[in-house]
Amino acid sequence: MSITPSISSEPTRAERRDVPKTVDAVVVGAGFSGMYLLHKLRNAGMSAVVFEAGDDVGGTWYWNRYPGARVDVESLAYSYSFDPDLEQRFEWQERYPTQPEILAYARHVADRFDLRRDIVFGTRTTAAHYDEAKRSWTVRTDRGDTVTTRYLVMATGCLSAAKLPEIPGIDAFEGDTYHTAHWPHEGVDFTGKRVGIIGTGSSGVQSIPVIAAQADHLTVFQRTPAYSLPARNRKLTVDEIAGMKARYRAYRKAQQESGFGIPTKIPTKSALEATEEERNAAFEEAWESGSLVNLLTTFTDFATNQEANDLAKRWIHDKIRSIVADPQTADDLCPDYPVGTKRPCLDTGYYETYNRDNVTLVNLRREPLVEITARGIRTEAREYEFDVIVYATGFDAMTGALTNVDIRGRGGASLAETWSAGPRTYLGIGTAGFPNLFMITAPGSPSVLSNMMVSIEQHVDWVCDAIAHLQERGLTTIEPSPEAQDAWVDHVNEIASHTLYPKANSWYMGANVPGKPRVFMPYAGGVGEYRKKCDEVARNGYEGFVLAE
Ligand code: NAP
Repeated sequence: MSITPSISSEPTRAERRDVPKTVDAVVVGAGFSGMYLLHKLRNAGMSAVVFEAGDDVGGTWYWNRYPGARVDVESLAYSYSFDPDLEQRFEWQERYPTQPEILAYARHVADRFDLRRDIVFGTRTTAAHYDEAKRSWTVRTDRGDTVTTRYLVMATGCLSAAKLPEIPGIDAFEGDTYHTAHWPHEGVDFTGKRVGIIGTGSSGVQSIPVIAAQADHLTVFQRTPAYSLPARNRKLTVDEIAGMKARYRAYRKAQQESGFGIPTKIPTKSALEATEEERNAAFEEAWESGSLVNLLTTFTDFATNQEANDLAKRWIHDKIRSIVADPQTADDLCPDYPVGTKRPCLDTGYYETYNRDNVTLVNLRREPLVEITARGIRTEAREYEFDVIVYATGFDAMTGALTNVDIRGRGGASLAETWSAGPRTYLGIGTAGFPNLFMITAPGSPSVLSNMMVSIEQHVDWVCDAIAHLQERGLTTIEPSPEAQDAWVDHVNEIASHTLYPKANSWYMGANVPGKPRVFMPYAGGVGEYRKKCDEVARNGYEGFVLAE
């Protein structure tokens, strides 16, 4: 479902550069993937054009301007590694950077590499059709552009197709409505307002404390509670920054070899073998550290064994109950699915916010949502009246941004239809029947289970190497063989089946979109293992891909 104009904040249309008729590569999206791609393609002597729906670079950080928006990977780790000089020059301010700081970083990179001259802003890619005779793609946009290209790279992000909930009467509300992923650039003043917010994922958890501090009253509509850790955000010290800058090269290597793209200690003990004292100490340490990966790597069997995971779950429930004063509200905030199987959150004062007099939690499990009305939100229990409704209802994750474009490969086959039973890729980079279509951090790759910057750089490097391989040998196309793709999809499923991930109704599984096939989409085998596999495939002459003259 796309965002309706009444709820989105469409940017004013930017000045557009001239669009060439033919280029070597079209890149869709000018977030961190598209920016790095453009830089690399240019350095390889190729002509490229990037189409970007927003009016500036930054992708997710251009759109997600809701109050409290931050990344939950530390700034010094959530940054490009490809240019040591950039690494040394950019000065991060906080441990977990805010959206404005990350957007400033993206803009800095765009300036530094003069990227904007090949980016067409304010322009959404609508279609890309493959011409088998010419071995080229024809790409079309909502501004009437038509470009032919040999290579098409979808750098569209995993969490970019924002989603409204399927609630009757959604257009009936007469007050203001906002979606966290399409926040107005000028911000929203909640002073004196009665605000309702639907959704308690990362966006809800981050924005709720900030909105609560401003609004007259905030009512939170929760369908599924989140597991959230206090971020313990703070200003970075001069010594910390200098320390990282001195050891960046070694740190980057460790990132690439790690499980989540964030170096962390490797667990050695099962939670079931640990004494209660050891377990409590480990969980407390993770909680105090303000780092999600520290929690996820406390014990060897945390992600794979229900009993082990239950120990963490109970410990976190106790924590929530120790913070939230009202026992019913505390109970309602305690999740029942295994820890880590839906994306956990990092927050600043989230649970404490429910102790405020001006905040009410509505548990939609006990009081199901019925409809949006002209005055507010009606549940089975009553109608709540608001001046503003905030939708923190997430995304058609991982596939939405790809299938929203009319992509047609060999024989005119549509990507959306080809993936109707779930996405199928080889390595999360390409898909059979769609030659020279590359996808950055697509389903079947670690993507959302990793520090995105690490996975983005790895994919961009791999794709650019593959293109160089073709160019050097006078080859024209590359695409996965159906056999290699089937084997990879089986492998991705096999790994997921040994974890607890499929036990939650998460967006990892497509469960937040009615009718979307339930398939665990990311590769759960870890960033380091995945990289080894990709490198091996390339070393073996792009094994599993069909290369043609
Ligand atoms: P989300 O995690 O998908 O959360 C959406 C919320 O809306 C969920 O609580 C969901 O409930 C609720 N919801 C959806 N439809 C509903 C309906 N019809 N009725 C009631 N509730 C409904 O989306 P998000 O919070 O935007 O985050 C998405 C992802 O973006 C995160 O998981 C994370 O990967 C990334 N992100 C990261 C950061 C960060 O780095 N700090 C910040 C924001 C986002 P159910 O759970 O029951 O479906």
